[in-house]
Amino acid sequence: MSFESFSFDPRIAAGIKAVGYSNPTPIQEQAIPVILQGRDVLGVAQTGTGKTAAFILPILQRFTQGSLRQVRALVVAPTRELAEQIHQATVDLGKQTKIRSATVYGGVSKGPQLSALRRGVEIVVACPGRLLDHVQSGTIDLSHVEVLVLDEADRMCDMGFLPDIRRILKHLPTVRQTLFFSATMPSEIRRLADSILTDPATVQIGMIAPAETVSHALFPVPQEQKADLLLTMLREKGADRVLVFTRTKHRAKNLARKLSTGGFRASALQGNMTQPQRQTAIDGFRSGRYKVLVATDIAARGIDVPEISHVINFDMPDTVDAYTHRIGRTGRAHRSGKACTLASFGDGQMIRMIERTLGSPIARERVADFDYGVFLPERQFPQPKPTSPRPGKSYRSRTSGSRSYRPSTRTRTRPQPAGAGSGRS
Ligand code: AMP
Repeated sequence: MSFESFSFDPRIAAGIKAVGYSNPTPIQEQAIPVILQGRDVLGVAQTGTGKTAAFILPILQRFTQGSLRQVRALVVAPTRELAEQIHQATVDLGKQTKIRSATVYGGVSKGPQLSALRRGVEIVVACPGRLLDHVQSGTIDLSHVEVLVLDEADRMCDMGFLPDIRRILKHLPTVRQTLFFSATMPSEIRRLADSILTDPATVQIGMIAPAETVSHALFPVPQEQKADLLLTMLREKGADRVLVFTRTKHRAKNLARKLSTGGFRASALQGNMTQPQRQTAIDGFRSGRYKVLVATDIAARGIDVPEISHVINFDMPDTVDAYTHRIGRTGRAHRSGKACTLASFGDGQMIRMIERTLGSPIARERVADFDYGVFLPERQFPQPKPTSPRPGKSYRSRTSGSRSYRPSTRTRTRPQPAGAGSGRS
């Protein structure tokens, strides 16, 4: 399938060409036609699947007609980074149109946001808190909103934004198109979706994109030797663009400091940092000034750096979902990536759960030049025999291969009952 089959306005087609997309991703193939028809959509997909363009392109198409300079689409996102990315995608894809987008989020001065809103914009990409500020002070008019997008709804729920979202909904016209995206569908999110969507088309994308291009490896190591092992790994592999995950903000800060002392250009990215500090870390990583970014799960959500070569789980993630989110940061946009997990005593159960989801064992590896002392990596986590993939799971572990967004996807026209299912396909 090509983008031509959607018959986009030539100005939008030019935007698609300018950003270099040649073919739609599965979520775009499935979501764009139904959004163009004006239907509500429940999209079960995570960042990295191309979901931003899946909703932005039909919105741009819709706004090539009708009035300009009033807020006709509201996109609500959990973090400033994600809001900025959506805004940037809108600007890039809509460059040849007259459609304008503005961001609205806290932690920065209101002035530029107010001027943009006063000048008039059609698309507002906002985080819930600051958006409500503007609503309450009467500086934004949401009465003309035709399309509402809730992006990363599960993350917004995690961050405690659910009451804010319900408040925002009260200020929107009831007749509108609603596009609801979430990486996971726990019952709370399912209930929210059911309460705000009308006869939605469900577009569900498995974790295909990262799986096709990401290879997985497990590095057994005692807890107290993790930092030294990581330093050796980085020296051996060469730190090109490495994203390291830790369990806590404190560990992210300390590890980044240790890596810097060890001679690597590293920065932390964690929730205790101020917005300018976070932005400096993300920009520095994107530009290549920092080769290693040490992040917590929440802080790393939404960062989009297509060239990440390695994701390293310094600490085991708490859930299989967290693992898939973390490694979804690499192997993107036609590049291959590697997901390395440092495993210590006590991590066995989570490893087995991840392997069950992947449908195959993760390869055990040992770092050749590292002195493990009396620790025997092969004994702590022996290599299991290959298992057959679980039916219905689209997520596969591969050791090599080129990326193609191969669909293991489905489009349903009716929502599942509340509480049904908590994962992806
Ligand atoms: P998203 O899931 O929206 O965060 O997109 C993930 C990455 O995929 C971004 O870097 C997009 O620019 C890129 N992308 C989106 N759509 C396409 C496409 N059709 N072809 C190639 N890359 C894409």
